[in-house]
Amino acid sequence: MTQYLEQVLLTPGPTPIEPHAQKALGFAMRGHMDPEVFAVNARVQANLRTLYGTDANAFTCLLAGTGSLGMEAGFANLLEPQDKVLICANGSFGYRMAEMSERLGANVTVVKAPIGQAIQLEDVKTALEADAFKLVAVVHGETSTGVLNPAIEVAQLAKSYGSLVTVDAVTTAGMMPYHMTEWGIDYAYTGSQKCLSAPPGVAPVAFSSSAIKAVENRTSKVPLWYADLEGLQAYWDRREYHHTVPVQLHYALDAALTAALEEGLPTRAKRVQEVGGAALAALETIGFTAFVERPEHRLPTVLAVRLPEYIQDVPVRSSLREHNVIITGGLGETAGKIWRLGLMGESARPAIYHKFFAALEKVLNVKGLITAFDQQLGVSTR
Ligand SMILES: *Cc1c(COP(=O)(O)O)cnc(C)c1O
Repeated sequence: MTQYLEQVLLTPGPTPIEPHAQKALGFAMRGHMDPEVFAVNARVQANLRTLYGTDANAFTCLLAGTGSLGMEAGFANLLEPQDKVLICANGSFGYRMAEMSERLGANVTVVKAPIGQAIQLEDVKTALEADAFKLVAVVHGETSTGVLNPAIEVAQLAKSYGSLVTVDAVTTAGMMPYHMTEWGIDYAYTGSQKCLSAPPGVAPVAFSSSAIKAVENRTSKVPLWYADLEGLQAYWDRREYHHTVPVQLHYALDAALTAALEEGLPTRAKRVQEVGGAALAALETIGFTAFVERPEHRLPTVLAVRLPEYIQDVPVRSSLREHNVIITGGLGETAGKIWRLGLMGESARPAIYHKFFAALEKVLNVKGLITAFDQQLGVSTR
């Protein structure tokens, strides 16, 4: 049988698996209609309400797919052909939203911001003044560039114009504040392998009660049978067969989500700030700089750093991999220029960053990174 070595996974997803989730993967098989599985599902649904801060009549569940299915399911349920949708895009995931909406036949308007910069509220306002949109969608944390968008303000603004609101929670919910009712969000989704540190393969989603009403008021059928809200409600609420769910992934997500809520969402938000702040401070000592200029626009869960001139992107990352440390470079126009270090879930741990800095010290033949990291961590946790 093939053996796989432990790796230090510092990619912006997948993340190192949370220990209880790892154990849960080995639980005995059960049928998808077994009462024990329905009990797991009910706990997941209740915990997702807490994670997303939903209203009392919201619907939560897991989709059998990754975060992108969560994204697509939202548009497929909330949009009908010709519906007007406003998409905020300043990186790959924002543009993926636009692509999906277009494929569904919606009438898409895109508000853009340059790579590395946050969406400007004034631009959203201008678009909302010019036209009426059924739905406004924004990525909270744009993983491809490490930018935190002003999702709360976008959501509140869109609400005031009467639109439904989708906020991609993939890099935020579970590690940073996220609240559907307080912020006016109607549809939220994430991927199991991001901030919750479960294995990839399920997408936790939430529909607000307004979103549910909007789906019920459609004049055409939801084009994706698999992710049709009605079918999901049949299984998750009425316990009727819809499709065979990946039971082991439900066990693992349940364990990871329970662990996250037990640790406490505010504690996790503090942890990511501290570990990320210390990691940036240590990297700055050898010439790295934050890629996102304005500190308030930096996404705490994905540290994007610009490489100093003397460091070659691909060879250094390949050497790190020989030390079993995996990090990610830039995409598109940032390729070769930046690194992206994951701080989601279990990757935002000092022990993991110690391993990264130990390997980086060896590869670059420098000293003092671990010391600098620890010093900064000591300052911010004191
Ligand atoms: C990873 C990611 C997705 C897509 O998730 P997959 O699990 O790769 O399908 C969507 N949005 C954001 C912001 C992401 O980081």
